[in-house]
Amino acid sequence: MGEFDLIARFFTRPPRPGGPTLLGVGDDCALIQPSPGTALAISSDMLVEGRHFLSTVAPERLGHKALAVNLSDLAACGATPVAFTLALALPRADAQWLEPFSRGLLALADAHGCELIGGDTTQGPLNLCITVFGEVPLQGGRSQALLRSGAQVGDDLYVSGQLGDARLALEVFRGQLSVPADVFEAARARMETPSPRVALGQALRGVASAAADVSDGLIGDLGHILRRSGVGACIDTDAALGLIAARHALDEDQALGFVLAGGDDYELVFTAPTNARDAVHAASVHSQTPVTRIGRIEAEPGLRLRDAQGRLLQRQDQAFDHFK
Ligand code: ADP
Ligand code: MG
Repeated sequence: MGEFDLIARFFTRPPRPGGPTLLGVGDDCALIQPSPGTALAISSDMLVEGRHFLSTVAPERLGHKALAVNLSDLAACGATPVAFTLALALPRADAQWLEPFSRGLLALADAHGCELIGGDTTQGPLNLCITVFGEVPLQGGRSQALLRSGAQVGDDLYVSGQLGDARLALEVFRGQLSVPADVFEAARARMETPSPRVALGQALRGVASAAADVSDGLIGDLGHILRRSGVGACIDTDAALGLIAARHALDEDQALGFVLAGGDDYELVFTAPTNARDAVHAASVHSQTPVTRIGRIEAEPGLRLRDAQGRLLQRQDQAFDHFK
């Protein structure tokens, strides 16, 4: 199978009639027409074997994850997915691998109405890079995108879904931790097939004051919001501990570490004024995505952790950084 057979067989589908894609795979460029009154939201994420995924992961799950991590960035901006490109380096043209990979990828794409419109394919060590395009409405020339920079002193701090379970699965894979088989399987599904919170992000437009997705761990990604907004925060550790599904299989210190600094979660961390609590609840219900209030934005810079008795905790958790 040559390069162009491979593209035709696994990555070419006709554009959806009436959709934004005027021209898809096959020419030098794709053409997309954003809806009137919208700005394009654009983001890229690369997945490198051994760095972002284990070589043993099922290709169908890897296809899902490659797009999911990109959709998660659109979710964090409150954008509606439109299209994506796929740049792929493959060790060999292996149909047994490509078929399930493309199935997992395109199933998630279909679930979000996000069309594959182009890419690049080359031989090399397995490496996947996706660029996603989404839309956010413009109002009076200003985009309605959720940004990292809007958190205000006094705002509530929230997280969607669950945190820490992906890290638990990674530690089991690394042989550092042992948990019951059912706990591991659930955590492994969280690690390998994350659910990008696209519907929640859209529902939070005009409600949240700031948002980011949690990919490198809560401390790190919340830290981006705090620095960009020029504020600090305090997290209620009891509320945070409720975020990890496998809480019962871990001691408290470990569970809190996974929640605060686990990584690979693809949830949203966001802030909203206290008078928007009903609106946040409505966004959660509308998007069928659980949301937990875990703390508050404060004027003093930095991040503090407080337990249910109001005691400040000292911990050394760190955000994930590829170069540290
Ligand atoms: P060019 O060399 O002009 O950049 P290519 O010959 O590499 O383009 O690719 C041919 C067509 O196939 C282009 O439309 C490109 O966007 C598309 N394409 C290449 N690789 C992929 C892929 N992995 N997924 C989807 N489309 C792809
Ligand atoms: Mg060309």
